[in-house]
Amino acid sequence: MANMIPTKTPMPEQEGNVRNKNFEEVALGYTEEMACGEAERCIQCKNRPCVSGCPVNVQIPEFISAVQNKDFLEAYKIITSTNSLPAICGRVCPQESQCEAKCVRGIKGESVSIGRLERFVADWYMNNADEVTDAVEKVPSNGHKVAIIGAGPSGLSCAGDLAKKGYEVTVYEAFHTGGGVLTYGIPEFRLPKKIVQKEINKLKDLGVKIELNVIIGRSIEIDELFEMGYAAVYIASGAGLPVFMGIEGEGLVGVYSANEYLTRINLMKAYMEGYDTPIMRSKKIAVVGGGNVAMDAVRCAKRLGAEEVYLIYRRSEQEMPARLEEVHHAKEEGIIFKMLTTPVQILGDINSNVCALECVEIELGEPDASGRRSPIIKEGSEFELEVDTVIMAIGTSPNPLIARTTTGLEINKKGCIVVDDRMKTTKDAVFAGGDAVKGAATVIYAMGCGK
Ligand code: FAD
Ligand code: SF4
Repeated sequence: MANMIPTKTPMPEQEGNVRNKNFEEVALGYTEEMACGEAERCIQCKNRPCVSGCPVNVQIPEFISAVQNKDFLEAYKIITSTNSLPAICGRVCPQESQCEAKCVRGIKGESVSIGRLERFVADWYMNNADEVTDAVEKVPSNGHKVAIIGAGPSGLSCAGDLAKKGYEVTVYEAFHTGGGVLTYGIPEFRLPKKIVQKEINKLKDLGVKIELNVIIGRSIEIDELFEMGYAAVYIASGAGLPVFMGIEGEGLVGVYSANEYLTRINLMKAYMEGYDTPIMRSKKIAVVGGGNVAMDAVRCAKRLGAEEVYLIYRRSEQEMPARLEEVHHAKEEGIIFKMLTTPVQILGDINSNVCALECVEIELGEPDASGRRSPIIKEGSEFELEVDTVIMAIGTSPNPLIARTTTGLEINKKGCIVVDDRMKTTKDAVFAGGDAVKGAATVIYAMGCGK
Protein backbone atom coordinates (compact mmCIF):
# COMPACT_ATOMS: atom_id res chain seq x y z
CA MET A 1 0.00 0.00 0.00
CA ALA A 2 1.51 3.33 -1.10
CA ASN A 3 2.25 6.02 1.47
CA MET A 4 -0.40 8.67 0.69
CA ILE A 5 1.08 11.48 2.84
CA PRO A 6 0.71 14.55 0.55
CA THR A 7 4.05 16.16 1.40
CA LYS A 8 7.65 15.14 0.73
CA THR A 9 9.71 13.61 3.52
CA PRO A 10 11.73 16.60 4.72
CA MET A 11 15.51 16.54 4.26
CA PRO A 12 17.55 17.17 7.43
CA GLU A 13 19.77 20.23 7.02
CA GLN A 14 22.00 22.61 8.98
CA GLU A 15 20.13 25.54 10.60
CA GLY A 16 20.23 28.78 8.55
CA ASN A 17 22.01 30.76 11.24
CA VAL A 18 24.65 28.09 11.78
CA ARG A 19 25.36 27.17 8.15
CA ASN A 20 25.75 30.79 6.99
CA LYS A 21 29.06 30.81 8.88
CA ASN A 22 30.54 27.61 7.44
CA PHE A 23 31.12 25.95 4.05
CA GLU A 24 29.91 22.48 5.12
CA GLU A 25 27.12 20.86 3.10
CA VAL A 26 23.72 22.42 3.86
CA ALA A 27 21.43 19.46 3.09
CA LEU A 28 22.42 16.33 4.98
CA GLY A 29 20.69 13.61 2.95
CA TYR A 30 18.01 11.03 3.77
CA THR A 31 18.57 8.16 6.17
CA GLU A 32 17.64 4.69 4.91
CA GLU A 33 14.33 4.92 6.77
CA MET A 34 13.48 8.32 5.28
CA ALA A 35 14.40 7.14 1.77
CA CYS A 36 12.21 4.03 2.04
CA GLY A 37 9.32 6.13 3.42
CA GLU A 38 9.63 8.62 0.57
CA ALA A 39 9.94 5.83 -2.03
CA GLU A 40 6.61 4.44 -0.77
CA ARG A 41 4.96 7.69 -1.93
CA CYS A 42 5.57 6.62 -5.55
CA ILE A 43 2.52 4.88 -6.96
CA GLN A 44 4.43 3.30 -9.90
CA CYS A 45 2.38 4.96 -12.66
CA LYS A 46 2.10 2.81 -15.78
CA ASN A 47 2.59 5.75 -18.18
CA ARG A 48 5.67 7.01 -16.21
CA PRO A 49 5.27 10.79 -16.80
CA CYS A 50 8.29 11.57 -14.58
CA VAL A 51 10.66 9.80 -17.03
CA SER A 52 9.67 12.14 -19.86
CA GLY A 53 10.82 15.07 -17.68
CA CYS A 54 14.37 13.72 -17.34
CA PRO A 55 16.83 14.80 -20.05
CA VAL A 56 18.98 11.68 -19.50
CA ASN A 57 16.02 9.31 -19.31
CA VAL A 58 16.56 7.92 -15.80
CA GLN A 59 14.17 4.98 -15.28
CA ILE A 60 12.56 6.66 -12.28
CA PRO A 61 9.74 4.30 -11.23
CA GLU A 62 12.07 1.30 -11.62
CA PHE A 63 14.81 2.75 -9.40
CA ILE A 64 12.24 3.90 -6.84
CA SER A 65 10.71 0.42 -6.83
CA ALA A 66 14.17 -0.99 -6.03
CA VAL A 67 14.43 1.50 -3.11
CA GLN A 68 10.99 0.33 -1.90
CA ASN A 69 12.48 -3.20 -1.88
CA LYS A 70 15.60 -1.91 -0.07
CA ASP A 71 17.70 -3.16 -2.99
CA PHE A 72 19.87 -0.04 -3.18
CA LEU A 73 22.52 -1.65 -5.38
CA GLU A 74 19.87 -2.49 -7.97
CA ALA A 75 18.54 1.09 -7.69
CA TYR A 76 22.07 2.36 -8.34
CA LYS A 77 22.51 0.10 -11.37
CA ILE A 78 19.22 1.33 -12.83
CA ILE A 79 20.15 5.00 -12.36
CA THR A 80 23.69 4.65 -13.69
CA SER A 81 22.58 2.75 -16.78
CA THR A 82 21.57 6.18 -18.13
CA ASN A 83 23.13 8.74 -15.75
CA SER A 84 26.91 8.84 -15.18
CA LEU A 85 26.81 11.44 -12.36
CA PRO A 86 23.90 10.61 -10.01
CA ALA A 87 25.33 12.05 -6.76
CA ILE A 88 25.71 15.37 -8.57
CA CYS A 89 22.28 15.39 -10.24
CA GLY A 90 20.64 14.43 -6.96
CA ARG A 91 22.11 17.59 -5.45
CA VAL A 92 21.95 20.30 -8.11
CA CYS A 93 19.33 19.44 -10.75
CA PRO A 94 16.26 21.71 -10.88
CA GLN A 95 13.94 18.71 -10.38
CA GLU A 96 10.98 21.00 -9.66
CA SER A 97 10.92 22.01 -13.33
CA GLN A 98 11.85 18.56 -14.71
CA CYS A 99 10.96 15.05 -13.46
CA GLU A 100 9.18 16.26 -10.32
CA ALA A 101 7.12 18.77 -12.34
CA LYS A 102 5.56 15.80 -14.15
CA CYS A 103 5.02 13.57 -11.12
CA VAL A 104 1.31 12.77 -10.61
CA ARG A 105 1.66 12.98 -6.84
CA GLY A 106 2.24 16.70 -7.42
CA ILE A 107 -1.37 17.18 -8.58
CA LYS A 108 -2.90 16.89 -5.11
CA GLY A 109 0.11 17.66 -2.95
CA GLU A 110 3.88 17.53 -3.38
CA SER A 111 5.59 15.38 -5.99
CA VAL A 112 7.72 12.41 -4.96
CA SER A 113 11.16 13.74 -4.01
CA ILE A 114 12.91 12.05 -6.92
CA GLY A 115 16.08 14.15 -6.57
CA ARG A 116 16.55 13.35 -2.88
CA LEU A 117 16.03 9.64 -3.59
CA GLU A 118 18.59 9.77 -6.39
CA ARG A 119 21.05 11.44 -4.04
CA PHE A 120 20.37 8.81 -1.35
CA VAL A 121 21.04 5.94 -3.76
CA ALA A 122 24.24 7.52 -5.16
CA ASP A 123 25.57 8.29 -1.67
CA TRP A 124 24.65 4.80 -0.45
CA TYR A 125 26.71 3.34 -3.29
CA MET A 126 29.68 5.62 -2.56
CA ASN A 127 29.61 4.61 1.10
CA ASN A 128 29.23 0.89 0.39
CA ALA A 129 31.08 0.50 -2.93
CA ASP A 130 33.92 -1.50 -1.35
CA GLU A 131 31.54 -4.09 0.02
CA VAL A 132 29.27 -4.62 -2.98
CA THR A 133 29.99 -5.99 -6.44
CA ASP A 134 31.04 -3.44 -9.05
CA ALA A 135 27.90 -1.83 -10.46
CA VAL A 136 29.49 -1.09 -13.82
CA GLU A 137 32.03 -3.32 -15.48
CA LYS A 138 34.87 -2.16 -17.75
CA VAL A 139 34.07 -2.98 -21.38
CA PRO A 140 36.80 -4.27 -23.78
CA SER A 141 38.09 -1.67 -26.28
CA ASN A 142 36.41 -1.47 -29.69
CA GLY A 143 39.58 0.15 -31.12
CA HIS A 144 38.10 3.62 -31.71
CA LYS A 145 39.53 6.71 -29.98
CA VAL A 146 37.44 9.77 -29.07
CA ALA A 147 38.72 13.10 -27.70
CA ILE A 148 36.55 15.22 -25.43
CA ILE A 149 37.26 18.87 -24.69
CA GLY A 150 36.29 19.90 -21.16
CA ALA A 151 35.80 17.83 -18.00
CA GLY A 152 32.52 19.48 -16.96
CA PRO A 153 29.26 17.51 -16.68
CA SER A 154 28.74 17.42 -20.44
CA GLY A 155 32.20 16.07 -21.25
CA LEU A 156 32.16 13.63 -18.32
CA SER A 157 28.72 12.30 -19.20
CA CYS A 158 29.76 11.75 -22.82
CA ALA A 159 33.00 10.09 -21.64
CA GLY A 160 31.12 7.70 -19.33
CA ASP A 161 28.65 6.61 -21.98
CA LEU A 162 31.33 6.12 -24.65
CA ALA A 163 33.55 4.14 -22.26
CA LYS A 164 30.59 1.87 -21.46
CA LYS A 165 30.40 1.14 -25.22
CA GLY A 166 34.10 0.29 -25.45
CA TYR A 167 35.47 3.53 -26.94
CA GLU A 168 38.91 4.73 -25.80
CA VAL A 169 38.17 8.15 -24.38
CA THR A 170 40.54 10.96 -23.46
CA VAL A 171 39.18 14.13 -21.86
CA TYR A 172 41.33 17.26 -22.25
CA GLU A 173 40.77 19.81 -19.48
CA ALA A 174 42.23 23.33 -19.26
CA PHE A 175 42.18 23.50 -15.44
CA HIS A 176 44.37 21.54 -13.03
CA THR A 177 41.32 19.58 -11.86
CA GLY A 178 38.16 18.15 -13.46
CA GLY A 179 34.49 18.91 -12.87
CA GLY A 180 34.04 22.22 -14.74
CA VAL A 181 31.47 24.43 -13.04
CA LEU A 182 30.80 21.61 -10.56
CA THR A 183 34.28 22.28 -9.18
CA TYR A 184 35.01 25.94 -9.85
CA GLY A 185 31.48 27.44 -9.69
CA ILE A 186 29.12 25.56 -7.39
CA PRO A 187 30.24 25.99 -3.77
CA GLU A 188 31.27 23.25 -1.36
CA PHE A 189 28.17 23.77 0.81
CA ARG A 190 25.93 22.75 -2.10
CA LEU A 191 28.12 20.17 -3.78
CA PRO A 192 31.11 18.86 -1.79
CA LYS A 193 34.15 18.54 -4.04
CA LYS A 194 34.93 15.04 -2.76
CA ILE A 195 31.60 13.92 -4.30
CA VAL A 196 32.61 15.38 -7.69
CA GLN A 197 36.02 13.72 -7.40
CA LYS A 198 34.47 10.35 -6.52
CA GLU A 199 32.18 10.52 -9.57
CA ILE A 200 35.21 11.36 -11.74
CA ASN A 201 37.17 8.45 -10.22
CA LYS A 202 34.35 6.08 -11.15
CA LEU A 203 34.71 7.21 -14.77
CA LYS A 204 38.46 6.62 -14.57
CA ASP A 205 37.71 3.09 -13.33
CA LEU A 206 35.76 2.64 -16.56
CA GLY A 207 38.95 3.46 -18.48
CA VAL A 208 38.38 7.18 -19.19
CA LYS A 209 41.68 9.10 -19.35
CA ILE A 210 41.72 12.72 -18.16
CA GLU A 211 44.56 15.00 -19.33
CA LEU A 212 44.64 18.11 -17.13
CA ASN A 213 46.23 21.50 -17.87
CA VAL A 214 45.70 21.17 -21.64
CA ILE A 215 43.99 24.08 -23.39
CA ILE A 216 42.57 22.96 -26.72
CA GLY A 217 43.07 25.78 -29.21
CA ARG A 218 46.36 26.72 -27.56
CA SER A 219 48.33 23.58 -26.52
CA ILE A 220 46.68 21.40 -29.21
CA GLU A 221 44.24 22.35 -31.98
CA ILE A 222 41.24 20.25 -33.01
CA ASP A 223 42.73 19.29 -36.40
CA GLU A 224 45.82 17.99 -34.55
CA LEU A 225 43.59 15.72 -32.46
CA PHE A 226 42.56 13.94 -35.67
CA GLU A 227 46.26 13.62 -36.64
CA MET A 228 46.78 12.00 -33.21
CA GLY A 229 44.36 9.23 -34.22
CA TYR A 230 41.07 10.35 -32.69
CA ALA A 231 38.08 9.36 -34.82
CA ALA A 232 35.77 11.99 -33.34
CA VAL A 233 35.86 15.03 -31.06
CA TYR A 234 33.18 16.23 -28.61
CA ILE A 235 33.48 19.90 -27.59
CA ALA A 236 32.14 20.46 -24.06
CA SER A 237 34.07 23.58 -23.19
CA GLY A 238 31.20 25.36 -21.40
CA ALA A 239 30.47 29.06 -21.24
CA GLY A 240 33.07 30.54 -18.94
CA LEU A 241 33.29 34.08 -20.30
CA PRO A 242 31.59 36.58 -17.94
CA VAL A 243 29.11 39.17 -19.15
CA PHE A 244 28.99 42.66 -17.59
CA MET A 245 26.14 45.21 -17.69
CA GLY A 246 28.13 47.93 -19.43
CA ILE A 247 27.27 50.52 -16.76
CA GLU A 248 29.61 53.18 -15.40
CA GLY A 249 31.92 52.10 -12.57
CA GLU A 250 32.45 48.45 -13.58
CA GLY A 251 36.23 49.07 -13.61
CA LEU A 252 36.33 50.10 -9.91
CA VAL A 253 38.17 48.08 -7.28
CA GLY A 254 35.65 45.74 -5.65
CA VAL A 255 33.70 44.83 -8.80
CA TYR A 256 33.93 41.14 -9.72
CA SER A 257 32.26 38.87 -12.21
CA ALA A 258 30.55 36.04 -10.31
CA ASN A 259 32.78 33.65 -12.23
CA GLU A 260 35.96 35.19 -10.86
CA TYR A 261 34.57 35.54 -7.34
CA LEU A 262 33.36 31.94 -7.19
CA THR A 263 36.49 30.53 -8.86
CA ARG A 264 38.68 32.21 -6.25
CA ILE A 265 36.50 30.78 -3.48
CA ASN A 266 35.80 27.28 -4.79
CA LEU A 267 38.64 26.25 -7.07
CA MET A 268 41.35 28.28 -5.35
CA LYS A 269 39.92 27.69 -1.84
CA ALA A 270 40.03 31.34 -0.74
CA TYR A 271 37.72 30.47 2.17
CA MET A 272 40.08 27.86 3.64
CA GLU A 273 42.89 28.36 6.11
CA GLY A 274 46.26 27.59 4.56
CA TYR A 275 45.41 29.05 1.14
CA ASP A 276 46.61 32.55 0.29
CA THR A 277 44.16 33.24 -2.59
CA PRO A 278 43.15 36.89 -2.26
CA ILE A 279 39.41 37.53 -1.89
CA MET A 280 37.43 40.62 -0.89
CA ARG A 281 36.21 40.29 2.71
CA SER A 282 33.26 42.61 2.16
CA LYS A 283 31.11 44.28 4.82
CA LYS A 284 28.25 45.25 2.50
CA ILE A 285 27.93 43.59 -0.85
CA ALA A 286 25.47 43.61 -3.75
CA VAL A 287 25.13 40.71 -6.19
CA VAL A 288 23.28 41.46 -9.43
CA GLY A 289 21.27 38.60 -11.00
CA GLY A 290 18.57 36.05 -10.20
CA GLY A 291 19.98 32.67 -11.24
CA ASN A 292 21.85 29.89 -9.43
CA VAL A 293 25.11 31.75 -9.94
CA ALA A 294 23.80 34.86 -8.14
CA MET A 295 22.44 32.67 -5.36
CA ASP A 296 25.82 30.97 -4.90
CA ALA A 297 27.62 34.32 -4.84
CA VAL A 298 25.38 35.86 -2.14
CA ARG A 299 25.58 32.76 0.02
CA CYS A 300 29.40 32.64 -0.29
CA ALA A 301 29.65 36.36 0.58
CA LYS A 302 27.62 35.79 3.74
CA ARG A 303 29.83 32.87 4.73
CA LEU A 304 32.93 35.01 4.19
CA GLY A 305 31.58 37.36 6.89
CA ALA A 306 29.66 40.10 5.03
CA GLU A 307 27.15 41.82 7.35
CA GLU A 308 24.72 42.98 4.68
CA VAL A 309 24.30 40.97 1.48
CA TYR A 310 21.88 42.27 -1.14
CA LEU A 311 20.54 40.32 -4.08
CA ILE A 312 19.49 42.75 -6.81
CA TYR A 313 17.11 41.35 -9.44
CA ARG A 314 15.17 43.28 -12.06
CA ARG A 315 12.13 41.04 -12.17
CA SER A 316 10.01 39.58 -9.34
CA GLU A 317 10.79 36.47 -7.33
CA GLN A 318 8.37 34.45 -9.48
CA GLU A 319 10.53 35.04 -12.55
CA MET A 320 13.84 34.15 -10.88
CA PRO A 321 15.57 31.32 -12.78
CA ALA A 322 17.35 30.00 -9.66
CA ARG A 323 16.32 26.65 -8.14
CA LEU A 324 13.54 27.11 -5.57
CA GLU A 325 15.57 25.36 -2.90
CA GLU A 326 18.48 27.80 -3.30
CA VAL A 327 16.17 30.81 -3.03
CA HIS A 328 14.59 29.36 0.11
CA HIS A 329 18.01 28.58 1.61
CA ALA A 330 19.42 32.03 0.77
CA LYS A 331 16.51 33.71 2.56
CA GLU A 332 16.95 31.53 5.63
CA GLU A 333 20.62 32.53 5.68
CA GLY A 334 19.78 36.24 5.93
CA ILE A 335 20.25 37.45 2.35
CA ILE A 336 18.31 40.69 1.63
CA PHE A 337 16.29 40.30 -1.58
CA LYS A 338 15.78 43.51 -3.56
CA MET A 339 13.42 42.48 -6.32
CA LEU A 340 12.20 44.70 -9.20
CA THR A 341 15.42 46.68 -8.93
CA THR A 342 18.29 47.25 -11.35
CA PRO A 343 21.64 49.05 -11.02
CA VAL A 344 22.37 52.06 -13.21
CA GLN A 345 25.86 52.97 -12.00
CA ILE A 346 28.54 51.89 -9.52
CA LEU A 347 30.00 54.74 -7.47
CA GLY A 348 33.60 54.91 -6.23
CA ASP A 349 35.55 56.85 -3.57
CA ILE A 350 38.69 58.92 -4.23
CA ASN A 351 40.80 55.73 -4.25
CA SER A 352 38.57 54.14 -6.91
CA ASN A 353 37.13 51.65 -4.42
CA VAL A 354 33.43 50.83 -4.71
CA CYS A 355 31.38 52.82 -2.17
CA ALA A 356 27.79 52.57 -3.44
CA LEU A 357 25.50 51.13 -6.06
CA GLU A 358 22.94 53.42 -7.65
CA CYS A 359 19.74 51.57 -8.53
CA VAL A 360 16.28 52.25 -9.93
CA GLU A 361 13.00 50.49 -9.27
CA ILE A 362 11.26 48.49 -11.98
CA GLU A 363 7.67 47.74 -13.02
CA LEU A 364 6.81 44.70 -15.10
CA GLY A 365 5.29 45.20 -18.55
CA GLU A 366 4.09 42.76 -21.21
CA PRO A 367 5.83 39.36 -21.64
CA ASP A 368 8.97 39.53 -23.83
CA ALA A 369 10.43 36.95 -26.27
CA SER A 370 11.42 34.69 -23.33
CA GLY A 371 7.79 34.69 -22.13
CA ARG A 372 8.75 36.66 -19.00
CA ARG A 373 7.27 40.12 -18.36
CA SER A 374 9.69 42.82 -19.53
CA PRO A 375 11.13 45.24 -16.96
CA ILE A 376 10.30 48.99 -17.25
CA ILE A 377 12.13 51.63 -15.16
CA LYS A 378 9.94 53.63 -12.70
CA GLU A 379 10.48 57.41 -13.21
CA GLY A 380 12.20 59.16 -10.26
CA SER A 381 12.85 55.93 -8.32
CA GLU A 382 16.67 56.27 -8.10
CA PHE A 383 18.31 55.32 -4.78
CA GLU A 384 21.80 54.47 -3.53
CA LEU A 385 22.85 51.34 -1.65
CA GLU A 386 26.00 51.73 0.41
CA VAL A 387 28.24 48.75 -0.53
CA ASP A 388 31.97 48.01 -0.82
CA THR A 389 31.67 45.16 -3.35
CA VAL A 390 29.53 44.52 -6.43
CA ILE A 391 29.32 41.15 -8.14
CA MET A 392 27.84 40.74 -11.60
CA ALA A 393 26.02 37.43 -12.04
CA ILE A 394 23.99 38.26 -15.15
CA GLY A 395 25.23 35.48 -17.43
CA THR A 396 28.20 34.05 -19.29
CA SER A 397 29.01 33.15 -22.88
CA PRO A 398 31.34 30.58 -24.50
CA ASN A 399 35.05 31.38 -24.70
CA PRO A 400 35.84 32.12 -28.41
CA LEU A 401 39.27 30.35 -28.40
CA ILE A 402 38.14 27.02 -29.88
CA ALA A 403 35.97 28.60 -32.58
CA ARG A 404 38.80 30.99 -33.55
CA THR A 405 41.34 28.19 -33.94
CA THR A 406 39.14 25.63 -35.73
CA THR A 407 38.31 25.96 -39.42
CA GLY A 408 34.82 25.02 -40.53
CA LEU A 409 33.24 25.34 -37.06
CA GLU A 410 30.22 27.63 -37.25
CA ILE A 411 29.12 29.71 -34.26
CA ASN A 412 26.00 31.87 -33.83
CA LYS A 413 25.71 35.56 -32.88
CA LYS A 414 26.03 34.70 -29.18
CA GLY A 415 29.29 32.82 -29.78
CA CYS A 416 27.62 29.41 -29.21
CA ILE A 417 28.68 26.48 -31.42
CA VAL A 418 26.01 25.60 -34.01
CA VAL A 419 24.86 21.93 -33.87
CA ASP A 420 22.11 19.81 -35.43
CA ASP A 421 19.71 17.66 -33.41
CA ARG A 422 22.38 14.94 -33.04
CA MET A 423 24.80 17.50 -31.54
CA LYS A 424 26.90 17.39 -34.75
CA THR A 425 28.71 20.64 -35.60
CA THR A 426 29.38 22.01 -39.09
CA LYS A 427 32.81 20.29 -39.04
CA ASP A 428 33.17 16.60 -39.92
CA ALA A 429 33.38 14.19 -36.95
CA VAL A 430 33.15 17.08 -34.47
CA PHE A 431 30.24 17.21 -32.02
CA ALA A 432 29.46 19.75 -29.31
CA GLY A 433 27.08 20.16 -26.36
CA GLY A 434 26.29 21.73 -23.00
CA ASP A 435 26.86 25.42 -22.27
CA ALA A 436 29.17 25.64 -25.33
CA VAL A 437 26.10 25.30 -27.59
CA LYS A 438 23.39 26.87 -25.45
CA GLY A 439 25.15 29.45 -23.28
CA ALA A 440 24.71 29.13 -19.50
CA ALA A 441 22.11 26.35 -18.94
CA THR A 442 21.85 23.42 -16.51
CA VAL A 443 23.93 20.42 -15.47
CA ILE A 444 21.33 17.97 -16.72
CA TYR A 445 20.96 19.72 -20.08
CA ALA A 446 24.75 19.53 -20.46
CA MET A 447 24.67 15.84 -19.54
CA GLY A 448 21.78 15.16 -21.93
CA CYS A 449 23.85 16.65 -24.78
CA GLY A 450 26.83 14.49 -23.80
CA LYS A 451 24.62 11.43 -23.87
P1 FAD B 1 31.35 23.45 -17.79
O1 FAD B 1 30.81 22.89 -16.52
O2 FAD B 1 31.60 24.90 -17.86
O3 FAD B 1 32.69 22.67 -18.12
C1 FAD B 1 33.49 23.05 -19.20
C2 FAD B 1 34.92 22.61 -18.94
O4 FAD B 1 35.67 22.82 -20.12
C3 FAD B 1 35.60 23.43 -17.85
O5 FAD B 1 36.20 22.56 -16.92
C4 FAD B 1 36.63 24.25 -18.60
O6 FAD B 1 37.80 24.51 -17.82
C5 FAD B 1 36.93 23.35 -19.78
N1 FAD B 1 37.45 24.08 -20.95
C6 FAD B 1 36.99 25.25 -21.47
N2 FAD B 1 37.70 25.59 -22.56
C7 FAD B 1 38.62 24.61 -22.74
C8 FAD B 1 39.66 24.39 -23.68
N3 FAD B 1 39.86 25.26 -24.67
N4 FAD B 1 40.43 23.28 -23.57
C9 FAD B 1 40.22 22.39 -22.55
N5 FAD B 1 39.26 22.56 -21.62
C10 FAD B 1 38.47 23.64 -21.72
N6 FAD B 1 23.05 24.04 -13.14
C11 FAD B 1 22.17 23.25 -12.49
O7 FAD B 1 21.56 22.38 -13.12
N7 FAD B 1 21.94 23.38 -11.16
C12 FAD B 1 22.61 24.27 -10.40
O8 FAD B 1 22.38 24.36 -9.23
C13 FAD B 1 23.57 25.11 -11.04
N8 FAD B 1 24.30 26.01 -10.34
C14 FAD B 1 25.26 26.74 -10.97
C15 FAD B 1 26.06 27.58 -10.21
C16 FAD B 1 27.08 28.30 -10.81
C17 FAD B 1 27.94 29.18 -9.97
C18 FAD B 1 27.29 28.20 -12.21
C19 FAD B 1 28.39 28.98 -12.87
C20 FAD B 1 26.49 27.38 -12.97
C21 FAD B 1 25.48 26.63 -12.36
N9 FAD B 1 24.67 25.77 -13.08
C22 FAD B 1 23.76 24.97 -12.44
C23 FAD B 1 24.86 25.61 -14.54
C24 FAD B 1 25.69 24.36 -14.84
O9 FAD B 1 26.73 24.24 -13.91
C25 FAD B 1 26.24 24.42 -16.25
O10 FAD B 1 25.14 24.54 -17.14
C26 FAD B 1 27.03 23.14 -16.57
O11 FAD B 1 28.13 23.00 -15.70
C27 FAD B 1 27.51 23.16 -18.01
O12 FAD B 1 28.29 22.04 -18.22
P2 FAD B 1 29.40 21.94 -19.37
O13 FAD B 1 30.03 20.62 -19.21
O14 FAD B 1 28.75 22.31 -20.65
O15 FAD B 1 30.42 23.13 -19.04
FE1 SF4 C 1 6.28 7.63 -9.14
FE2 SF4 C 1 5.66 10.24 -9.56
FE3 SF4 C 1 6.89 8.83 -11.48
FE4 SF4 C 1 4.31 8.28 -10.87
S1 SF4 C 1 5.10 10.18 -11.77
S2 SF4 C 1 5.98 6.79 -11.22
S3 SF4 C 1 4.34 8.68 -8.65
S4 SF4 C 1 7.73 9.33 -9.42
